[in-house]
Amino acid sequence: MNKLYDWIVIGGGITGAALSYELAKVGFSVLLLEQNSILSGATRFGYGGISYWTGTSELTRQLSIEGIERHRQLPQELDADIEFRELDLLLTIDADRNPAEILAQYANCYIAPKLLSTQDACELEPLLNPDAIAGAIQFRHAHIKPPLLVSAYLNALVQLGGEIVCETVVKLDRVGHKIVGVTTQQQAYRSANTVVCAGGLSRSLLKASGISSRIYFTHAELIETEPTDLELRTMVMPADTKRCQLEADASKATIDPLWDEVGHELLPSSVDVGAIQFRDRTMKLGQLSRVLTDPNVLPDATQSENEIRAKARQVLPKLADLKGTWYHCLVAFSHDGLPLVGALPDLEQIYLFSGFTSPLVYVPPLALRFAREFTQSSAFASNAIVSQLSPQRFGI
Ligand SMILES: Cc1cc2nc3c(=O)[nH]c(=O)nc-3n(C[C@H](O)[C@H](O)[C@H](O)COP(=O)(O)OP(=O)(O)OC[C@H]3O[C@@H](n4cnc5c(N)ncnc54)[C@H](O)[C@@H]3O)c2cc1C
Repeated sequence: MNKLYDWIVIGGGITGAALSYELAKVGFSVLLLEQNSILSGATRFGYGGISYWTGTSELTRQLSIEGIERHRQLPQELDADIEFRELDLLLTIDADRNPAEILAQYANCYIAPKLLSTQDACELEPLLNPDAIAGAIQFRHAHIKPPLLVSAYLNALVQLGGEIVCETVVKLDRVGHKIVGVTTQQQAYRSANTVVCAGGLSRSLLKASGISSRIYFTHAELIETEPTDLELRTMVMPADTKRCQLEADASKATIDPLWDEVGHELLPSSVDVGAIQFRDRTMKLGQLSRVLTDPNVLPDATQSENEIRAKARQVLPKLADLKGTWYHCLVAFSHDGLPLVGALPDLEQIYLFSGFTSPLVYVPPLALRFAREFTQSSAFASNAIVSQLSPQRFGI
């Protein structure tokens, strides 16, 4: 007879890895199912920024504080070098924009932003083009290399007795209102609980099992450069990120049904010029975002690469022509910018832990809270936080 796991976790990116570890740490038996033997989802390509200054409500402020504390603890707890460091984030303001107006967008952040003149911004980050910006907003930021955090979590999971199997889940197995496990391309596995951490593929996986959820994805594209002698001192992103608006517009309830039909491009694509350098001197340069409803379609690599480089040439001209490789991945998001964490409606024993647009600050503390919520002995007052992130807040 098949083993009955306490938890099956679907997806081994940052969300699934963190949650599997925390569930195993509180004593559950955990099976993590990941379709790829090499990390190749959004976590492989993320910049690794931890935006702990970002909290604008009581909820996100609390999670931001817990998030940065957790990241500071994790290298020791997991006994791994995840390239954690603190650095400056520069949010560039386009030359034709009014800096005071852009600054006002950050007025509610729990750590106050600092507005820099063009000259001060370029002194801090000499690779910026002074003619392209009207200044920049500076935040103290933190940074890790996401694949290192994933492998640290997974190593710790295995040490705790967790199992990792490389198989593709094709459907969730249902008996009445209960999800009793999953079927992969190879076999069936049984569990008391199942949690979907499949990133941009979460929606299609749920749909294949007849479950609707307001989770969406962008097709994200970027260039990973070869190691370079150039030195990017800060992390650079635009202050007025187009991707956030794209996500809000593409996930309106009125167009939700279109997401279940392949072949739509719901909105024009956009490029947010950003860059980060890693310890091995490679850089990531991006990011182009598209709202294509087919998760399996591949954009035209040459055209996309040219578009990213052309935009980068304006803001970070010395980086624009560095040798590099174009990559594509899917990034999950929700309508209100908050993750989808909790039970799915009208069903039992099935949970979602996904839709984190910028997950690095929130995933570690939420994975910890989620796991503790399921232990009998927990003294942790997590309910209030986790319940605000329930997938049921959108009514389906
Ligand atoms: C260019 C770029 C820059 C970014 N910068 C930042 C940043 O600075 N800070 C930040 O916080 N975030 C950033 N992000 C976002 C972040 O990288 C992602 O949101 C995050 O990594 C997503 O993690 P995930 O676990 O949800 O998804 P993924 O990493 O995509 O993991 C999902 C996993 O599920 C697996 N899977 C899917 N379906 C199945 C199935 N049926 N069976 C088995 N396995 C399955 C996939 O193979 C995949 O490994 C950035 C993203 C990009 C693209």
